[in-house]
Amino acid sequence: MATLTYTRIEDIPKIHATAREAFASGRTKSIAFRKAQIAQVGYLLKDNEQRIKDALKSDLGRPYLETELLDFAAVYGEVRMVYDKIDQWVKPQRIDFHFNWFPMGPKLVAEPKGVILNIAPFNVPVFLLLSPLVSAIAAGNGAVLKPSEQTPAFSQLIAELLPKYLDRELYAVINGGVAETTKMLELPWDHILYTGNGRIGRIIAAAAAKHLTPTTLELGGQNPVVVDPKMDVHLTAKRLLWGRFSNAGQICLAPEYVLVPAHFQDTLIEEMKKVYNTFYPDGPENSDSFARVVTTAHTQRIKKRLDETKGKIVLGGATDVEKRYIAPTVVRDVPVDDSLLTEEIFGPVLPIVPVKDVDEAISIIRSKDYPLAVYVFSNDPKFEEKVFSNTKSGAAVTNETVITAGVPGLPVGGIGPSGYGYYTGKHCFEQFTHWRVSLKNPGWVDKVAFGFRYPPYKPDYKKY
Ligand code: NAD
Repeated sequence: MATLTYTRIEDIPKIHATAREAFASGRTKSIAFRKAQIAQVGYLLKDNEQRIKDALKSDLGRPYLETELLDFAAVYGEVRMVYDKIDQWVKPQRIDFHFNWFPMGPKLVAEPKGVILNIAPFNVPVFLLLSPLVSAIAAGNGAVLKPSEQTPAFSQLIAELLPKYLDRELYAVINGGVAETTKMLELPWDHILYTGNGRIGRIIAAAAAKHLTPTTLELGGQNPVVVDPKMDVHLTAKRLLWGRFSNAGQICLAPEYVLVPAHFQDTLIEEMKKVYNTFYPDGPENSDSFARVVTTAHTQRIKKRLDETKGKIVLGGATDVEKRYIAPTVVRDVPVDDSLLTEEIFGPVLPIVPVKDVDEAISIIRSKDYPLAVYVFSNDPKFEEKVFSNTKSGAAVTNETVITAGVPGLPVGGIGPSGYGYYTGKHCFEQFTHWRVSLKNPGWVDKVAFGFRYPPYKPDYKKY
């Protein structure tokens, strides 16, 4: 494991103050400045792709292709889109025409909030740190990034690279664990974006409330999959195993459990076995296409839940805590109250829950917290509609998993316990923007319209 240098706690208020002073200098008002900084985020990535891939290989045993797909592609897409759209997004928003008000030119003006704090988790760290940074820059803010201490190689690297590419006063990295983050949360930020688990999300929200700081919480949950037996079983098996096993299952949008009609369970598992053998022909342990769990503690946690399951392991099942290895695993006949279904697994284990029909599947989903995504595998619009219209989630996706996060223009966001607010694209830009109300009323308006409002009031005033 690489070593990570933590930021000195006494330096944290200074970094915060420096970013605030730099913001107050007004240099982020220039759109040309913002565009240049956004482009620099792209260059940071482009110039250092190999070092970043190696860092994530060290931290997460992550195959290079997964880093390109999950992290790089999404950030490049974001840099390009925001760079192209920023001129349009910062334009004042006119309101609908109304005869009484139009002479005053009422509008909303996009102003930056100030300095944004972005606290990110370990699992997709490039995307989760840099994509919101692009939105923060686009909206004219300063930003302080707090990477996860669980990815020491990457977090050390980003602390080295960011000051080489971006304005050093406006944009900074603070590294550390609980003590450093707690210190950061004592300070008044202008918006906090936190991505991670819900337990810490509640700590962040409570700390932010002390300063009335607006907050975005991007949390986790258990994303269900409902399988229609009429669906192409090979495609279903392939996409589900890819979604669950990429990044060793450590993706917030990964499918967490599969609801399948009991009579179709054998067919689905047979197809999963075939797909599994094509994914890992020499076994997953020796494969270059399978990552590792981030820490031994998380590996132990996942192993314990596998040890306790009442379901039957049909694929994988091997574990090696010291090597942070959990084999890609599929478990069948998992009851709803099983150890694998109590909370998010966030690892490469896919439980299959047999159900009577789609109604039972819906009632299981409804018995749990709202997830980030509900997935349906079906070619029948009525089946799809039935599941989506009877459930709630951040996203409703058909015949696919995970990839919505990388689609430019589609934000990521939860609902209820899976979080609130959005990141990526225009939604994130707006979140980091203060829409300042603006109106300029010429003196002549009183002569033609609003003169009646001044005392002494007349009983026959004009009603609006
Ligand atoms: P993590 O352990 O890396 O922690 C996340 C951040 O919280 C880190 O920067 C860490 O330093 C900080 N932190 C830890 N303890 C803290 C404390 N007591 N006070 C303040 N800050 C503290 O990552 P994690 O939380 O295990 O992340 C995994 C979770 O994130 C999963 O639940 C996953 O579903 C969720 N997630 C959600 C999204 C989304 O878009 N909604 C994206 C990725 C991950």
